Amino acid sequence: MIVYIILMEKMKDMKILLCRIFIMAVMIALASFSHTASLAGDVKGRVVCIDPGHQLHADSSPDPIGPGSATTKACVSSGTSGVVAGPEHAVVLDVGLRLRDLLTTQGITVVMTRTTADVSICNSERAAIANEAKADLCIRLHCDAGSKHICIMLNPVKIQGWTDDIYDESLKAAGIVQTAYSTYTGIPDGGLTPRSDMTGFNWSDVPVILPEMLEMQNVDDDKLAATPEFRQKMAEGLEKGIVEYLETLPPKHAGTSGYVIR
Ligand SMILES: [Zn+2]
Repeated sequence: MIVYIILMEKMKDMKILLCRIFIMAVMIALASFSHTASLAGDVKGRVVCIDPGHQLHADSSPDPIGPGSATTKACVSSGTSGVVAGPEHAVVLDVGLRLRDLLTTQGITVVMTRTTADVSICNSERAAIANEAKADLCIRLHCDAGSKHICIMLNPVKIQGWTDDIYDESLKAAGIVQTAYSTYTGIPDGGLTPRSDMTGFNWSDVPVILPEMLEMQNVDDDKLAATPEFRQKMAEGLEKGIVEYLETLPPKHAGTSGYVIR
């Protein structure tokens, strides 16, 4: 009987010990999970470069379309304009500033290639700004000159030595942002258009995309682009897509448990 009681006591001790070990293991697992989760899906500290396309005055001086290229395009073209929305360069700047504020609120660092209309920055120089900032994504904001009620997304073609290193991520970002933007704004999705001749793509060392957010010769799109409410909606649609893309990226900083430094 005494042996039995001692045995029972021992088993009780064992149960308590096992219970303690189990609770400790659960707590460790939870702690490491929350640590991983806070880094993996966290957009805070990410860097986004916003390049509102064009500028007040076009600049036709030659700008090589890629590093070492003999082919040149205009430094910056004039862009299109809407009857009521006004010039493209002003619409995309307004949307860009709204997008900057939305992303900044999320803890994302935003680098603007321009914040005013009257600047003189070639497309290759705009790419250099995003490269210098080591941006996680560069988004070049434009409106198309077409007359359909549609939005399209331009993405780089894979060119050895120019865009081969940013092709995959750019394509992924293009798809995510295009879907989010089209869904949120209600502007029909015209899909992706890969381009090999875009100076701002070929000089880029960071993932880069170019949404043609609407078509300014379309009467309805022109009217939409003229209102502050819809410009805000455009910015919000882009924000949703950008955040969704950034959340797909691997953790940025090396923590105590060996995360990769990018
Ligand atoms: Zn444009």
